[in-house]
Amino acid sequence: MGRRTRMRFVKRTPDNIYFAGVGESSSNTEQFVILTVAEFEAMRLKHYINLNQKDAAEKMGVSQPTFSRILENAHQKATQALMEGKEIRVYGGNIDYKQGFIGYGCLNCDAEWEDESASKDKKVNCPKCESNKIYYLVREPL
Ligand SMILES: [Zn+2]
Repeated sequence: MGRRTRMRFVKRTPDNIYFAGVGESSSNTEQFVILTVAEFEAMRLKHYINLNQKDAAEKMGVSQPTFSRILENAHQKATQALMEGKEIRVYGGNIDYKQGFIGYGCLNCDAEWEDESASKDKKVNCPKCESNKIYYLVREPL
């Protein structure tokens, strides 16, 4: 485990405003916001790859209302991180931004888990809440 870094708002840079870790160790777990893999992927598809909502929802194998809900959650968390100067971490903290993720997510409890043999057609239940409202979740490497 590396040292936890606190994010600090930095002003007066030439062209942009950014957040930087200042390398202070902090035991305060309130210093970061956790995005689920699905939320992270929803933001990437919609705002980074610039897919429309329909295509983005399709890519994640969810309905448009579900996609919209996931994206709304992501926006709220990202906005909170920006307003409060918090670090953003992806669920579990063990997902490298450069790596892909294949597995499932649960619509009932928001659990996400990796499964290398996951596919859209498999019927699985959530290991946490045993719900069968499961979506197939793939995040392609950047
Ligand atoms: Zn669940």
